[in-house]
Formats: sequence, C-alpha cells, structure tokens
Amino acid sequence: MESDGLPGGVGIRPSPAVPTYGPSVEADIRLARLGRLAACPACPAGPTDHPGPRGPGSEVQLTMAFPADRPRRLRESAVMRDLMRETRVEPEDLVYPIFVVPGSGVKRPIASLAGQFHLSPDNAAALAKDFRAKGGRALILFGLPERKDETGSSGADPDGPVQAAIREIKSAAPDLLVATDVCLCEYTSHGHCGVLSPEGRVLNDPTLELLALQALSHARAGADLVAPSDMMDGRVQAIRQALDGSGFERVPVMSYSVKYASAFYGPFREAAQSAPRSGDRKGYQMDPANIREAFREAELDLEEGADIIMVKPAGPYLDVLREIRLMTKRPLAAYQVSGEFAMLNAAGSVGLIDYRAAALESLVGIKRAGADLILTYLAPEFLRWRAE
Ligand SMILES: [Zn+2]
Repeated sequence: MESDGLPGGVGIRPSPAVPTYGPSVEADIRLARLGRLAACPACPAGPTDHPGPRGPGSEVQLTMAFPADRPRRLRESAVMRDLMRETRVEPEDLVYPIFVVPGSGVKRPIASLAGQFHLSPDNAAALAKDFRAKGGRALILFGLPERKDETGSSGADPDGPVQAAIREIKSAAPDLLVATDVCLCEYTSHGHCGVLSPEGRVLNDPTLELLALQALSHARAGADLVAPSDMMDGRVQAIRQALDGSGFERVPVMSYSVKYASAFYGPFREAAQSAPRSGDRKGYQMDPANIREAFREAELDLEEGADIIMVKPAGPYLDVLREIRLMTKRPLAAYQVSGEFAMLNAAGSVGLIDYRAAALESLVGIKRAGADLILTYLAPEFLRWRAE
C-alpha cells in the first residue's frame, strides 16, 4: 500500500496555474486532493479547494490510500483486452446437434427450435458439407425413426436414419467428426430411455444390451464417437465391451455422465419426438439439487471406460461443470440444451437482450467453467458471426 506521499514519476507537476489533465486522470485527482492542482478532473464545477467533488463540505471525506493495484489498466483499450483474454471459444470446441429423419429431400423446420430442421440423410449430408466448409468440426446426430416399438429396436437398424446419415455425411465431409447420440427414447413407443416392466418401471439391465447394439450399429455405419445419453447404470461398460468385441476399439465413448432431469429439455422433446407417454425421467436422470451424486456418476463412467464425460444441461449447472473439471483430467463436454438455446432466442427476438452478445457470452461461460467441448445449437451462427 502507498501512503499519501506521491511516488516519483508520471503525473506529478508542481502547482500548475492551469490544470491539464492526463496522461493519468487518477494521478491528477490525487494531486488535487493534496492541494497541488488548482482543479480536479473529478470536480465538474472547475477549480475547487478539494478534496471531493462536492468540496470541503462533502459528507464523504476519503482518507484512504489510493489503490496501488489497478486492474483497470488492463481493460482500457480493445487491444489490451484482446491480449488479456483468458478464455476463447473456437470452432473446434463446438459440436452441433442435428436431427435426422427417414426419406430423402426432407428439410422441415422444427417449431420449438428456431433455425433447426428435421433432415433426411441426403440433406443432413448437405448441411454437414456446408458446416465443414464454414469451419465446423463436429456434429452429433439424433434420429427419428420410421417406426417405434416397446424395445426401441429400430435404433439398431443398419438402415435407420442415423446409420444412413452417418454414411452420407462421412462421404460428403470426410474430415468432419460424426458423433451419435445413443438412447432408446427416440425409438421406443412409450418414449422412455429404457425398456419397461409390465408395471411401467424402466428396467436397467435388459436395456444395456439394446444400447450396446445401437452403439455398435452406429460404429459399423462409420460413427467417429458414440454418446450414450440414457443414464442406465453400467451402460458405458456394456457399450465399450460391445465395441471392443467387434473391432471398434478405436471408437471413443462420450458419456452423458451427469445428466439432470431438467425442465430445460422441453423444446428438444418436440424436436426428437421423444417425450415419455407417461411418467417422467426422474427415476434415471439426476435430481437437479444434487452435486455429490454427480461425482459418483462421473467416477463410475470413468471407471467403465468413458473417454469423454459430459454434464447436461450446461448453463444452470456451471458449478457442477467446474467441480467435475477439477475432478478429472479427461476431456469434459457440456450440453447447452434446447431450453437454454430457446430462451436466448426468445429473449433476443423480442429485443430484451442482444442475442448475439448474450449467445457468445453463454458459450464463453460454459468454456470458462471447464468444458472442452460444447454441444450447442448455436454452432452454425457462431461460425457465421466469426466470419463477419
Ligand atoms: Zn433418452
């Protein structure tokens, strides 16, 4: 801490008759307080006998030492701020979720998710090619099948929309990373992420084999990475075993390890047509109030061989993301979910927030909290804004 003595150097002038301000306004204010400047830059009325904007009668008379450490120095100019920036979001941080449907020539807007579409494999490939050309690096595919049944069997159909889209995307944009979501809810008639008992309970262990079959079918179609989102216990190990047993040791598993039963998934359920017909997912997804449980889930998935672990949603769970970041050295992903995207969009569309600035800030926040990868519907807009 400095005392009230003046340090040598910049800003000290002996009692000038006419005040000239700068280079350091703070130094001039200090001189004024000490009576060495006739006018103080903080006193709009002009010369006063200081201290304080309101003169000697002010009810606030500061006797504190002026700050020696001034963080504002590093924020003064845009170039300084650019150089000091700690967190940067890059195109390779982002994974873009897309929704594929059967058929060809299909490109249907998804009402709940502005700017997102249901795409047949050919159009998914066209989007992928364009996304890659604009600097995009990774997609994650969700599928809407032709038919649904009790066990979600169409999820493992080698000619299902996801499997077909993987093949078409890999041929249209070979160096784009294609990840796939692995879950039953888009493929089951009841909309749950696992098979049901006669009483309607989601059965864990019989679901594992079905998930493993689906993951294997994605790997066979050429997926670069599979991402189970079902929250069944033991599914990472089951999928790892199935992949390894069929020669896909090189295909990593990104596990939705810490997935909360969140109200922010609303718009996605319309997009993926995966809302449960009855009940909810609280019996397998995590309670939003819990964080100790997040460690347990993450630890189990790491032990079972998950290469990347994920926290979902992202924005309302940045504390969880941070804790898991500190817990593991493996790569960490965060899913900025449909509700987060939709809220930004809705607020932006009625002028309540600056959409672009808020969207970018949301991504920086997620990365700053510890995410290496962000699954986000903002990916194409991010690339466009970056190019402008
Ligand atoms: Zn699911």
